[in-house]
Amino acid sequence: MVDLKSQYNNIKEEVDKGIQAVIDSTAFVKGKVVKDFEDNLAKYLQVKHVISCGNGTDALQVAMMALGLKPGDEVITTSFTFIATAEVIALLGLTPVLVDCDPETYNITPEAIRKAITPKTKAIVPVHIFGQSAPMEEIMAIAKENNLAIIEDNAQAIGADYIMNDGSKCKTGTMGDIGCTSFFPSKNLGAFGDGGAVFTNSNELADKLRAIVNHGMKVRYYHDYVGVNSRLDGIQAAILDVKLRHLDEYAAARNYAANYYDKAFANHKHIITPARYDKSSHVFHQYTMKLIDADRDELKNFLNSKGVPMMVYYPVPLHLQSAYKDDRYSEGDFPITECLSKSVFSLPMHTEMNEEQLKYITDSVLEFFNK
Ligand SMILES: *Cc1c(COP(=O)(O)O)cnc(C)c1O
Repeated sequence: MVDLKSQYNNIKEEVDKGIQAVIDSTAFVKGKVVKDFEDNLAKYLQVKHVISCGNGTDALQVAMMALGLKPGDEVITTSFTFIATAEVIALLGLTPVLVDCDPETYNITPEAIRKAITPKTKAIVPVHIFGQSAPMEEIMAIAKENNLAIIEDNAQAIGADYIMNDGSKCKTGTMGDIGCTSFFPSKNLGAFGDGGAVFTNSNELADKLRAIVNHGMKVRYYHDYVGVNSRLDGIQAAILDVKLRHLDEYAAARNYAANYYDKAFANHKHIITPARYDKSSHVFHQYTMKLIDADRDELKNFLNSKGVPMMVYYPVPLHLQSAYKDDRYSEGDFPITECLSKSVFSLPMHTEMNEEQLKYITDSVLEFFNK
């Protein structure tokens, strides 16, 4: 589904040099290289503060801790996302309130959020699913009206632009109170191991976040908050700093592949290609289509037999996962999410796809329907 080896080969010299410099400096955890990467990412995103941490799941957790969310508080998020989004809500003793998503963009909808608000609601976690922004201006208006915090789960959309009503652009992850991202290797900005970061424009939240990721301390051995140990390694930061310089080029490569897929499957009677939301650019963390009147497992087996990988993100909605089943939810509650989980499929999507590979993949998919 991804080709991290070819990507590395193209930037090997820069990456190897960065890694060696960290080894020479022995600043293995945090240190100057981490600080420089945080500053460079802040500049790229045009956000005041970037605070790195151990992974994207931790980023979501420390965001909720910094906002002072307490057990019993309700946090609204989408039922169609990776488990981490809801996991940290539950882990902190908060109540995840799940809502349905949009059938075209797969993103959380303002209408569903509005319906889910109660006096206990404290925060909304929009996920910019597959690389395209959720409808942020509407969500920000709802948050303002109801005095709710917004934590953006930007793990799949780093680098995407949201286009404001006035035409100005804002990077996803920088519009809410706190944005969170993951540097897991297969993410759009991926390290050679785990990593994550939070972003904020609030000086106060930034101070608190910086302390929380490092045992709640501002001054060494003086602990102001209950914190966690969640830090970025110097070696990962060195790699990420190189890849950050290529991030826009990587997004363009992903769009090239997406446009190729779009054309190959346009107006196909069994395939609906992913919709583009007019208020966002798309950085295609995944190219996720819907399959109509065909057997998804059969398609997967056929493609696998031709050496083409195919994945389903995500086969089970959060409200139907065993760990999250509770008497508030049952099958049928979120028909759109449930329908998507039965019909979506994703093809390989990465920064190194060439025309030959794309032709082979798309020909293989089309062959399945013509056999
Ligand atoms: C990957 C991902 C995360 C978690 O990131 P990790 O670094 O793997 O902990 C959270 N939310 C979404 C939507 C993701 O895709």
